[in-house]
Amino acid sequence: TDIKELLLSRIRDVADYPEPGVMFKDITPLLADPAAFTALTDALAEIATETGATKVVGLEARGFILGAPVAVRAGLGFIPVRKAGKLPGATLRQAYDLEYGSAEIEIHAEDLTSADRVLIVDDVLATGGTAEAAIHLIQRAGAEVSGLAVLMELGFLAGRARLAPALGEAPLEALLQV
Ligand code: 5GP
Repeated sequence: TDIKELLLSRIRDVADYPEPGVMFKDITPLLADPAAFTALTDALAEIATETGATKVVGLEARGFILGAPVAVRAGLGFIPVRKAGKLPGATLRQAYDLEYGSAEIEIHAEDLTSADRVLIVDDVLATGGTAEAAIHLIQRAGAEVSGLAVLMELGFLAGRARLAPALGEAPLEALLQV
């Protein structure tokens, strides 16, 4: 569609970043283009509404840039999932494996209740490790995941298959596939 072509045209491929052999998808040209950023926000907000979300969770850091306007557009609250050690209140913490080593993310547990249905928003789905940890955090907080919405899915990394057990019936919506 026209929207997908617009979004794709505003994503820049950066070779060998952050390390040799990686083709990084840089979304900053899209953010700098108001038509593209608005189209992206609207498309993700529609997914929030369609999946019956009551809250939007954004994953640090680009998931904050996309998730916050999506929450406002959809009339929902926004909750940040941050790298460990950044949130001042009582948190739930979840560890996940990286290619080398591991990482931890956190959420303010009191921002979610068992009545919440949460749409997780991020820019790029790669291996799915980050999103999988976020799903577990939301579920541990007692809430339900309404879906995972990303701008771009890197299909060759098989994140979709990895996430299937954690997502269950909740949809994974990727606006663009690579
Ligand atoms: P995963 O946990 O799925 O392997 O990695 C996803 C996380 O890393 C996301 O938060 C995403 O922002 C970031 N990421 C991985 N690869 C890329 C990329 O090529 N471009 C951008 N913009 N982010 C990426």
